[in-house]
Amino acid sequence: MQNNCIYLDNNATTKVDPEVIEVMLPYLTDYYGNPSSMHTFGGQVGKAVRTAREQLAALLGADESEIVYTSCGTEGDNAAIRAALLAQPEKRHIVTTQVEHPAVLNVCKQLETQGYTVTYLSVNHQGQLDLDELEASLTGNTALVTIMYANNETGTVFPIEQIGLRVKEYGAIFHVDAVQAVGKIPLNMKTSTVDMLTLSGHKLHGPKGIGALYIRRGVRFRPFMIGGHQERGRRAGTENVPAIIALGKAAQLELLHLEEATKRERRLRDRLEQTLLAKIPDCVVNGDITQRLPNTTNIGFKYIEGEAILLSLNKYGICASSGSACTSGSLEPSHVLRAMGLPYTTLHGSIRFSLCRYTTVAEIDQVIEVMPSIVERLRALSPFKNDDAGWLQEQSLVTSH
Ligand SMILES: *Cc1c(COP(=O)(O)O)cnc(C)c1O
Repeated sequence: MQNNCIYLDNNATTKVDPEVIEVMLPYLTDYYGNPSSMHTFGGQVGKAVRTAREQLAALLGADESEIVYTSCGTEGDNAAIRAALLAQPEKRHIVTTQVEHPAVLNVCKQLETQGYTVTYLSVNHQGQLDLDELEASLTGNTALVTIMYANNETGTVFPIEQIGLRVKEYGAIFHVDAVQAVGKIPLNMKTSTVDMLTLSGHKLHGPKGIGALYIRRGVRFRPFMIGGHQERGRRAGTENVPAIIALGKAAQLELLHLEEATKRERRLRDRLEQTLLAKIPDCVVNGDITQRLPNTTNIGFKYIEGEAILLSLNKYGICASSGSACTSGSLEPSHVLRAMGLPYTTLHGSIRFSLCRYTTVAEIDQVIEVMPSIVERLRALSPFKNDDAGWLQEQSLVTSH
């Protein structure tokens, strides 16, 4: 198994912080009690869970009672969307965007087959929303507006509070998938317009298998998982104690590091981006350069395939990602880049680098070192180098079947 690589795929998942592992381990070994038990052995675990909940609430500027643990970000998104609809059965309209994560997009698609109408807001070439289009889509029949805080592929950040003010005028519930934002953007739910907010542990240096849904006090919530009284009846099932303890610690560390890590990651990201743009001809940054996560850059390289770049990077032990989804054996360009209306010349050659607080200058410089020759070699092999028309024709064959 490979365990030393240059890991620039932090929007896919992150390394668990060693301090997080340390606080979690005793709850897998010695302290295995059930937090709901009446005895001291279980009760002490319940107390540790309360502390972890306070740590997570502090990161969000929320009250502990507003946190519901889930198994992952996907569950949080599913639970929030279903709860909002169940709480307002008379309303049958949902507003979302074309660039959401599949955990929102595919739920909405399924709801369309169950009598709901869904508006998928468009984005411009920078991946930004048009607030007039949002406003025009809202009606008294809108039950839910579900919009991501920051895009996992491009890092583009949406103006969530401006959106929320408009949503509130129409009395809809406002859910935000903040899986990419938590720990990267300061949040304060006390002064926010957001009703429900999803996060995931493994995207913020916590373990996989734990997430949380923030539910504003007073917002009507109908649970998805029915059973015992855990999570105040909002999510039944014995708590994933070790992971909850871990998420508490991860949240505490995110809050501690947020300001300085943000500055550092932005500096390294900009170094990577600007140097690659200067050294490599025919490449562009995808996304909103000003309203963007500090750790993310998505760069489109003309005339070559993103997957070929990834394979070459992989030989140097560099982990990055392309937004393409492998559907039934063929590579489909990312729905996010497609929605942005990117030209076909860069749609297939886009690569996302996502940094974290462990990323070093030496690692960034290693990428800067190898990328120009990788791109040059692949372009030399490409029959369509500098031939937009030929490349376009080839790509339309690839994407049309
Ligand atoms: C990763 C991610 C999710 C899904 O979270 P999981 O914990 O992997 O289920 C949802 N939304 C966004 C924006 C993400 O980046």
